[in-house]
Amino acid sequence: MESTLPLKEEEIKEETLNIIITGCIHGSLDKMYNDIKEYSSKNNKKIDLVLCTGDFECMRTENDLTFLSCPEKYREMGDFYKYYTSKIIAPYLTIFIGGNHEASNYLEQNYYGGWVAPNIYYLGRSGLINVKGIRIGGISGIFNKYDYFRGNFEKEENDIKGDKKSIFHLREFDVVKMSHVKNKIDIFMTHDWPTNLISEEDKDDVFQKKPHFKNDILEGTLGSYPGEFILKYLKPNYFICGHMHFYYSNKIGDTEIYAFDKCLNKRNYFGLIEVKKSIISMDISDNNIYIDPEWMAITNVFNQFFPNKYDYYSLFNLFDKNAKIIYNEIVLNKFKMNLFFKHKFEEIDIDENINELLKDKFTKKEKIKDDLNEQTKYLLNIFDIDNDGNNHYLSKKYLELEEKNKLKKKE
Ligand code: 5GP
Ligand code: MN
Repeated sequence: MESTLPLKEEEIKEETLNIIITGCIHGSLDKMYNDIKEYSSKNNKKIDLVLCTGDFECMRTENDLTFLSCPEKYREMGDFYKYYTSKIIAPYLTIFIGGNHEASNYLEQNYYGGWVAPNIYYLGRSGLINVKGIRIGGISGIFNKYDYFRGNFEKEENDIKGDKKSIFHLREFDVVKMSHVKNKIDIFMTHDWPTNLISEEDKDDVFQKKPHFKNDILEGTLGSYPGEFILKYLKPNYFICGHMHFYYSNKIGDTEIYAFDKCLNKRNYFGLIEVKKSIISMDISDNNIYIDPEWMAITNVFNQFFPNKYDYYSLFNLFDKNAKIIYNEIVLNKFKMNLFFKHKFEEIDIDENINELLKDKFTKKEKIKDDLNEQTKYLLNIFDIDNDGNNHYLSKKYLELEEKNKLKKKE
């Protein structure tokens, strides 16, 4: 636990971080780090941080590989397991969100975020952290209209409905949670593009390069509308995304937007942004992740509404007026008192039988639900959420509200 003291004016110096942002990595961590190293030495830039916008594919074992949703020809272990076992240490602090091709079991075990290997941090299904003096937020997954309003039912029913696909579909719960953030976010990450990203003057050029995007662009359906909502509502300084395997950048309002290609030779799959530190009391050389206090408060308050049902629900519908009534200043103050919680990589539970596990064959009955890992227990404690062994709740409060809403509709 640490608190932030106001600094005297002469102590405040403007510092800038060199941040590499990337598109989809698809398990090619070796290539990514080699290319970034080469870029860094060629351009004489010290890289402070690497941000990856999903389809990262952090499979530890063949069992994890069975949770990767993809055509069979792409089903490969990739490089991550070498980083997991510390055979290779990621040369830069790397933060990623989930896309639609992931070791979904491993990511779900880290629902609230966590270290997945030394120096590699997953932001969670949704998350907001402070690191090296900047605030980074993100939401994992891709938008799908059939699952958007569902609860997180997969832990219980993985093999019954939707198999391994729905697990990486965006949930309204995370978007409503995120819409409660009031302080400015420096960088926001999503996997798919926000809808209506392409400016009028760029459209013809994009249609030429990517004809199969044309209809969706004209209909305003290319990408995710909750992503567009977050972009325009929270107005982060930077908004970064991937998924389309196409480089594009634009500015909407004051937000700079970057989308990168996927990690392959000769593709424009990463780039550098220079970002001014916004939390001056934090040190750029500090490699710890600090869960944002505002996010702790929001997560704490929202836990009572955590839905794990398959059935349709909508927090926006339940609460009317943008669900704002559940924001609670008293709770925020409680978390503000302990300003930054250090969330440090200590020891992830590396399975010593990894070589045995690598031989594992696909077992259809495997469930996404697994025992709570130590990091999630630690985070539940930080969020002051009771641990029922499931890392989620079907809250009474939610059911009460749903009941009330049904009655209202009948009247
Ligand atoms: P992934 O690597 O996630 O399986 O697939 C990404 C590919 O799907 C990209 O190459 C992109 O062209 C395509 N894609 C993703 N979302 C959309 C969309 O909303 N409309 C169209 N036309 N293509 C999409
Ligand atoms: Mn994708």
